Amino acid sequence: MLQRAEPQDFERVLSSMCTVPHPSAREAAERFLATNPGDPGTYETIADLEREAVEYLGEITGLSDPAGYVASGGTEANLQAIRIARNRADTDDPNVVAPVHAHFSFTKAADVLGVELRTAPATDYRSNMTAMAELVDEDTVCVVGVAGSTEYGYVDPIPAIADLAETVDALCHVDAAWGGFYLPFTDHDWHFDHADIDTMTIDPHKVGQAAVPAGGLLARDRSLLDELAVETPYLESTDQLTLTGTRSGAGVASAVAAMESLWPAGYEQQYETSMANADWLADQLSARGHDVVGPELPLVAADLSMPMTDELRERGWRVSKTGAGEMRVVCMPHVTRSMLRSFVADLDWY
Ligand code: PLP
Repeated sequence: MLQRAEPQDFERVLSSMCTVPHPSAREAAERFLATNPGDPGTYETIADLEREAVEYLGEITGLSDPAGYVASGGTEANLQAIRIARNRADTDDPNVVAPVHAHFSFTKAADVLGVELRTAPATDYRSNMTAMAELVDEDTVCVVGVAGSTEYGYVDPIPAIADLAETVDALCHVDAAWGGFYLPFTDHDWHFDHADIDTMTIDPHKVGQAAVPAGGLLARDRSLLDELAVETPYLESTDQLTLTGTRSGAGVASAVAAMESLWPAGYEQQYETSMANADWLADQLSARGHDVVGPELPLVAADLSMPMTDELRERGWRVSKTGAGEMRVVCMPHVTRSMLRSFVADLDWY
């Protein structure tokens, strides 16, 4: 089976938030396949590279002295951010306040960490600050904002979310897992310099074009990360703050390679191309009478009444639906204009 199996080709993938790794990231992943940054005393080179990855992520997100690490993905980074908030707070009954469009990884985090997740309705696909404010209280340990939502690619009012967190002495966490490598080239307020943000998720293995697994967790201050530390008696290092023990050095090395190759000019060019593709697709769909949401970042959702996923799937397309049933196309780096042209031609065929 294995010898005959072909890994996924991306020619018709419009639903994924991962993409083809940059060639340098692919090469670095292969070179560092057998390293384990979870044991930095033994695997020193990959530990150094992880510090470099965090430096890059700090530069991208406006954080001059960044603390953080390369996680297995956005799920782990979000969970760890909530864990930091819970551990630092002085309450037996912690809650987290997030907009309804927060990624389902927060549901997992709340379940695993024994924290109540309170979700507020959105207005026009963004956090409704009145609704968020009604949910916070003295047991709120974290208020979450999303910078590039999974379903619509919208950006929450992050400064207002940070202000709300401050009113109850909670941490402010920003989930820029997907949007973080597009946002530096927009005029949104989303990063550490724009607001009093404590922690952030930004994933190299999404728009960053690193190989999977390479998520990113950043903290404004090292003392926040220390909330995660557990002692590690049998390793050469004394403590560990990641959720997983043994980790992929391939993810870490590929993240450095991708950022070294692409930050900032390559990512900027990618943003311009992907945004132009998303605008083009939105125009094409509107011209055919569909209601289109966005694009605010390179992600287009549209109300298509056809039973589209099954038939499009038969033609090889991979598209997904939002919770409300709209078709959703994520304009990742592998999604080209010619791909979108043949997609639209196939839509016309139905
Ligand atoms: N946060 C956001 C905004 C996402 O879009 C995703 C995944 O698409 C995640 C978190 C979870 O990331 P991962 O699948 O890498 O765990």
